[in-house]
Amino acid sequence: MTQSGTTAASSRTTLPVPRGAELDERSLRARTEPMSVTAFGTDLYEVESASGETYHVNLPAGRCTCPDHAFRGERCKHVRRVAIEVNEGRVPPPGEVAVDCATCGATTFVARDAPGPHFCSEHRLRPGDRVRDRETGDRLQVVALSDRRADEVAVENSVYTVADYPSNRGYPADDPVVGVVYPQSVRIGADGPVPESLRVYSFPRTRLERLPRGGRGDGRRMNRVQPAGR
Ligand SMILES: [Zn+2]
Ligand SMILES: [Zn+2]
Repeated sequence: MTQSGTTAASSRTTLPVPRGAELDERSLRARTEPMSVTAFGTDLYEVESASGETYHVNLPAGRCTCPDHAFRGERCKHVRRVAIEVNEGRVPPPGEVAVDCATCGATTFVARDAPGPHFCSEHRLRPGDRVRDRETGDRLQVVALSDRRADEVAVENSVYTVADYPSNRGYPADDPVVGVVYPQSVRIGADGPVPESLRVYSFPRTRLERLPRGGRGDGRRMNRVQPAGR
């Protein structure tokens, strides 16, 4: 995770002018002058201009500390540049910061205070996702997501938290807890097989690997039933 107060500086560069675009002079300069934009995870951005000057832009307010804005009240090239970079995904939108996906390392934008680990849209879990338990290879289904840490959540019928649970000790204590079920599992009760599929187990997030969405086949096989938590 690369989360800090100032993050996601775009490199100081020019941006391509869209083909066929009829741009006024400020909009053209916003693209063709080499500038870099740094997001603070708030409404504020820092723009380093071609001349080496540094200005601050409040994007939602459309304000900038440069003379063009301050004295002429124009929507200056710095404000325009920040808007362009946000629209094109080069820097995070207001209130968000850039972090690395814990699975693939791709840059993704999340709320400034969002607890980690973070995942890109491809690897972020949703209820209903099928996942693989990295320890056992079991196929599981996600039923609940939470922001609670593995060291804050107790494993049912045990003395352990999710983080302390022996097979979870290789995973970060601050992992968020994910609730999963074994969709196909049964246990043998006194009167024969009993579906276990409604029982929810708590796992640290990074122990689970998301399986591709939309495919069938995963999770079809019978899973052996194991003690809570694992
Ligand atoms: Zn400006
Ligand atoms: Zn990813």
